Amino acid sequence: MMMNLQQILAKASSQLKLNNIKSFKLDSELLLAKTLDVSREEVLLNLNKKISQSDIKKYNYYLNLRNQYKPMAHIFKYKFFWKYKFFVNKDVLIPRPETELIIEQILKILPKKSKKNILEIGTGSGCIAISLIRERPNCRIVAIDKSLKAIKVAKKNAEIHQVGKKVNFLNIDVDKYFGNKYDIIVSNPPYIKKSDLLSLDKDVKFYEPKIALSGGFSGLETFFKIIKKCNKLLKNNGMLFLEIGEKQGKELRKNLKLNGFNQIKIYKDLSGKDRCLVSTKNH
Ligand code: GLN
Repeated sequence: MMMNLQQILAKASSQLKLNNIKSFKLDSELLLAKTLDVSREEVLLNLNKKISQSDIKKYNYYLNLRNQYKPMAHIFKYKFFWKYKFFVNKDVLIPRPETELIIEQILKILPKKSKKNILEIGTGSGCIAISLIRERPNCRIVAIDKSLKAIKVAKKNAEIHQVGKKVNFLNIDVDKYFGNKYDIIVSNPPYIKKSDLLSLDKDVKFYEPKIALSGGFSGLETFFKIIKKCNKLLKNNGMLFLEIGEKQGKELRKNLKLNGFNQIKIYKDLSGKDRCLVSTKNH
């Protein structure tokens, strides 16, 4: 007997659920939509339709990847962030919705025609730099990353979003970078504590680059390096925007004060956790 979409979805989602995949229902629907090359809505409006043997085979292939915890963004090869769709692979952190907070905060202080000089440290997929330049096209942005593979992904995304000539992507470690003085520096550095790496979700742990996640023994090591360097790279009254871990605000305030920063504000993400730190340098 041929199965219909409803039956195969029920089977697929219960399998994903058994593997503790939290978004089991949504994922089973999205993967079926991908299999049939239609939208998720179309799947849900045609639950009585039959599925062919060859589509079942294709669907099982995608389900199998997901059951091994491969992130949806890797199966689809893209992830939406801000207003755009970004190419992603295993060489970059998958853009997170909470990182959009940093974009919101920067846009708040930049008028539409602003011509500020911006540096992004650890650009990864390029999602922050590219979203910013699309919103504030008269700014100048340099985006650096110590991973050459990440820079390749970021450049590809810049091409996709037609800003290849507007953002200057450089493969360099922040320690070795001696650029201009900037008005704004932004970074979402690796900030997971070494001892927490093992307890990350399997999707993250097995598939996302450690280099983009691990903040050393304390989780704060990359921040300390960046803050010290930003003291030199920022203009007086320049601003630093950091994505931070939920329990890192206190330590970071201390370190920022020691390095000539003040007016430190911390904003919470949608789940009520400290996530975005904004600070001004003046001394
Ligand atoms: N928020 C990310 C996570 O929890 C970590 C991002 C980072 O280290 N910059 O997986």
